[in-house]
Amino acid sequence: SRTLRIGLIPGDGIGKEVIPAGRRLLEALPPSLGLKFSFVDLEAGFECFKSTGVALPDKTVETLKKECDGALFGAVSSPSTPTKGYSSPIVALRKKLDLYANVRPVKSVAPTPAFPDPIDLVIVRENTEDLYVKEEKTYDAADGSGKIAEAIKRISQRASSRIATMAGEIAVRRQRVRQSTGDAANKQALVTITHKSNVLSQTDGLFRSTAREALEAPRFQNSGIKIEEQIVDSMVYKLFRQPADYDVIVAPNLYGDILSDGAAALVGSLGLVPSANVGDGFAIGEPCHGSAPDIQGKGIANPIATLRSVAVMLEFLEQEEAAAIIYKAVDANLSEGRLLSPDMGGTAGTEEIVEDVIRRF
Ligand code: NAD
Ligand code: MN
Repeated sequence: SRTLRIGLIPGDGIGKEVIPAGRRLLEALPPSLGLKFSFVDLEAGFECFKSTGVALPDKTVETLKKECDGALFGAVSSPSTPTKGYSSPIVALRKKLDLYANVRPVKSVAPTPAFPDPIDLVIVRENTEDLYVKEEKTYDAADGSGKIAEAIKRISQRASSRIATMAGEIAVRRQRVRQSTGDAANKQALVTITHKSNVLSQTDGLFRSTAREALEAPRFQNSGIKIEEQIVDSMVYKLFRQPADYDVIVAPNLYGDILSDGAAALVGSLGLVPSANVGDGFAIGEPCHGSAPDIQGKGIANPIATLRSVAVMLEFLEQEEAAAIIYKAVDANLSEGRLLSPDMGGTAGTEEIVEDVIRRF
């Protein structure tokens, strides 16, 4: 049997409630998987900053690099006013560990009048460049009309190619899962490249052409992956009209950020939506929600986003079978609709929900 070492970074607020739920889930996975886990508790976040002066201690980064196979990150609070010396630890972690993709699966629980067809898509966001290189400057306009601010939008062939390749790999994996479970087995594997190259012909043009080239590789084409291109504004329209039409969406950083938060709204609660920050050989699972100070300490945080993030992390650690078991148990809990947290209209607490999911393994 194999032991995976997982770093646990609860962070602030309800991060401290949902990360223990994720650990409990991993510990309860069926022994027949032949998987064992060991855990190491690590610090990061605003409370950590207030007590130690740093939001992301070197020890956290070093331990992840040297000892861990993967990690779970809860959420961190950001100071409400700019605070000297504070910067977001998850953004820093993505850089330090070269976690170049943010992967966000969005799956509906049950049909709704607005969306009668099941939504099951994943947004693959490039995580290292685009406008987020944060090379900004402000200067005075020559004509005295006030200030002008500028930002660099940087797109590289290397980053565009590797993110598209990852999107292709995800599409292949999802197709394999659909075929093996018989669940939506006829759905066409599709990667939609999102861009605005009609206006930004060089930057987004490079993203579009590089992504297409990567996805035209024989290994993807032999798997029957369809490639589609979509200009980002019409993408938003279609995504909110017909979300069931999509499978894998790949986007540069900014569009991916906006699309992925928007898409989370399609399925009801922030407390349901997982993500993972992925690099070559490492993944950090992270629920999409924040530290939710309004409900912290009450034991009612919805753990589903974290439980699903555990599964996404495991997929990228090549533990697809374990991931599938978790997805299935979570879906069963949700579709039964008996034990739901308050954000879903129920009264169940965090621990009750985790135990109900585990019971279904
Ligand atoms: P939030 O996601 O923390 O909360 C938004 C609303 O959703 C709140 O009403 C909250 O109670 C509810 N909610 C969120 N997660 C839930 C869950 N698991 N179960 C039940 N209800 C849930 O966003 P916010 O209120 O805008 O931000 C609070 C703090 O979190 C801020 O300091 C913000 O900077 C930080 N934040 C961090 C991250 C992150 O770490 N990735 C993301 C967003 C916000
Ligand atoms: Mn965002």
